[in-house]
Amino acid sequence: MNRREFIKNSILAASGAVLLSGCTFKTSSPSPAGTIATSKFKNIAVSMLGFGAMRLPTTANGTIDDSLNKKMVETAINAGINYFDTAYMYMGGKSEEAMGDALKKYDRNSFNLTTKMPVMILEKEEDVERIFNEQLERCQTDHFDFYLVHCLNKHNWENTKKYNVIPFLEKMKKEGKIKYLGFSHHDTPELLQEIIDYYDKWEFVQLQINRIDWKACRGKEQYEIARKANLPIVIMEPLRGSALANLNAEATKILRDYNPDASTASWAFRWLAGLDGILTMLSGMTKPEHLEDNIKTFTNLKPLSEEEQKVYDKALAAHMKSQAIGCTACRYCECPVGVDIASIFSLYNQYQYDDRSNKAMSFINHYEALKESTRADKCIKCGLCKTKCPQQLDIPTLLAKVDKEYKALKSV
Ligand code: SF4
Ligand code: SF4
Repeated sequence: MNRREFIKNSILAASGAVLLSGCTFKTSSPSPAGTIATSKFKNIAVSMLGFGAMRLPTTANGTIDDSLNKKMVETAINAGINYFDTAYMYMGGKSEEAMGDALKKYDRNSFNLTTKMPVMILEKEEDVERIFNEQLERCQTDHFDFYLVHCLNKHNWENTKKYNVIPFLEKMKKEGKIKYLGFSHHDTPELLQEIIDYYDKWEFVQLQINRIDWKACRGKEQYEIARKANLPIVIMEPLRGSALANLNAEATKILRDYNPDASTASWAFRWLAGLDGILTMLSGMTKPEHLEDNIKTFTNLKPLSEEEQKVYDKALAAHMKSQAIGCTACRYCECPVGVDIASIFSLYNQYQYDDRSNKAMSFINHYEALKESTRADKCIKCGLCKTKCPQQLDIPTLLAKVDKEYKALKSV
């Protein structure tokens, strides 16, 4: 039995958890037919689809649409999703509150609530306790099931050590306010190894893994380090923002010709389902249809077959011919002069993938719908955003490129 058949069987097997080679973390047997797939973590079953609260539905004025969010949480819970992932920084600081509000009517033991310590904004040791207590209050809970040190890169890792974050979180574990402790990582495999070596009680790790980043951002190396350390992996950015749900026309055609019923996003999730050791995959679902499609994918989740892998790789090769910007729309790059970096990159990428004859006009119209004060030409090249971007994008240079292209299209 080759590795892929083994994994496939571990997900599809009718009963019994399967011991993964060299690792005590187990991928569970599937849920009963017609329900969402789960992984087994310690003594709990965790839904393989995690409800990511970094991108919640919003109203026309940009605030969180609480009513729609509650409906989506209800649909998620009814479908068997039991992992809800928020963070202090998400949605301009409003995500934790919205999720606390949406989840408060459910039995607290029926779901896993996850949030993160925003080490990037710590200025003194006392901030750690203050923020943690604020998070409990925002989420209307007395404990977090999974808790992460957020967005570790070189700078944030230094802050973690400087402000004694780990000893404080250990104390919270002893007091029952945290069940499981991990971290999310946004840097090199070398730093990932250093963080794992520094503290031997990490219980899980959150990594950015998807088919594009597997090679491009050394995702494979990071995955292998986590596996060697026996750390269950929470996948973030499985769709690389929404890029893997919105492939260009040529790539979409390749996938549709092979399977007209499968959404583009489902291919990305099913590619990930072929990896061992995945605890859950986070998906930020801004519309009910995203949630419905994901529920369909994760119900009786199947890894891609070898033939499907080839089709997927062919489609991605066609997609990568477009020169898109690798922005995941996380919005960590808050700009002091108000340039709307994520929206600009998103519009530019849509333009790159668009194959309609009027795509230039469409791009111009959408771009000009952005407030003038937030457009690319307002960038003063201070470079602050570059230090915050987990994708290490050269944002000022990319903004200049978008501005140049926009002006060229206008002049035609
Ligand atoms: S480099 Fe430009 S976009 Fe980035 S923070 Fe400075 S002004 Fe804003
Ligand atoms: S430019 Fe970087 S930090 Fe900003 S939204 Fe995109 S990926 Fe996130």
